[in-house]
Amino acid sequence: MKNDIRSLTQEELKDLLVNSKIQKYRAEQIFKFAHGKQVDNLDNITAIPKDLQKELSEKYCINSLKKVAFSESPRDKTQKFLFETTDEERKKVKIESVLISEDDRKTICISTQAGCNVGCEFCATGKMGFNRNLTAGEIVSQVYEIIKESKIIPTNIVYMGMGEPFLNYDNVLTSLKIFTDKKGIGIPSKRITVSTVGFENRIKKFADDLKSDSNLSNVKLALSLHSTDNGLRELLIPTSKSNSLKIIYDELVYFYRTTGNKITYEYIYFEGLNDTINDENRLIKLSRMVPSNINIIPFHYVDFPLIEPLLSLNEKIYGKIIDGKEKSLSNSINLYNFIDNLRSEKVTVNLRTSSGLDINAACGQLAVKN
Ligand code: SF4
Repeated sequence: MKNDIRSLTQEELKDLLVNSKIQKYRAEQIFKFAHGKQVDNLDNITAIPKDLQKELSEKYCINSLKKVAFSESPRDKTQKFLFETTDEERKKVKIESVLISEDDRKTICISTQAGCNVGCEFCATGKMGFNRNLTAGEIVSQVYEIIKESKIIPTNIVYMGMGEPFLNYDNVLTSLKIFTDKKGIGIPSKRITVSTVGFENRIKKFADDLKSDSNLSNVKLALSLHSTDNGLRELLIPTSKSNSLKIIYDELVYFYRTTGNKITYEYIYFEGLNDTINDENRLIKLSRMVPSNINIIPFHYVDFPLIEPLLSLNEKIYGKIIDGKEKSLSNSINLYNFIDNLRSEKVTVNLRTSSGLDINAACGQLAVKN
């Protein structure tokens, strides 16, 4: 089995070369080509001699991704890429990644797993089931392939595509080390956000890992919150049954105290379900726990069977869209009142746009169907 060089940090690459009696300084050259220049073949690492290329290619390879479909939103120019993995040793899987352009901000939303077994009730990926974890190389290759295809260098990377990053923890951490390495693509850590539904001990570990690596110290954490009520949250996110809000909140406090980084709460607005006065009061209290902001996300329509009460809500939104008005719940008066009420209590609230809604590229819609 050949090892994928793209899945290794520069340090790991150095160790590997030293073990193979190859000079350590070659690691930097190889890393620069594999990640800075994003070459996808060892023969194209022209900084090293041909005999070394040959020696490496006996044991190692560079696994890239193959683009199999592409779509672009006529509405907002969001681009969705469907990739297939090329690693011969692992199950071949398809994943999606999204490029969102908002003025000078170019955000790539990447996947960490093919499918997902968290099974959130509002999420198309969750309904696919789980195929396999992506390797660190497959995680970073999504960005490299999008750069190659679009000629756009991302300003931001968000781990909010398919899969739950903290259920593929080691590969996600390795990919963060690769992204932030200045000898590679060198994305500043403050421009990267990792989103999770929250698992006991994972947020704490993440805080410790960020603190122990100066390159990673400013990586942001987003919690997919969606409800401050344990009962509703358990209905929406099945794994929250064994990861209660009390546990998660304690870990968020630890995260803030350890890293000093603000928390982002992702909050899908389910009109009539999570916008009561009690929800507002709990969000106000939560926003005072540690410095934070709340991203309100419209509930994006999906075409798989939903449980009630999401089914009625989905039909309501979907109805509005097929009316030709292309509206979503972001236009609801109740939503604006909800946001105003929170802002009047000095809660920092952002209303997220539904980029890529018309090509099924928005939050909750990724399902490898083009
Ligand atoms: S929202 Fe995230 S964690 Fe939940 S099922 Fe979808 S991909 Fe998995």
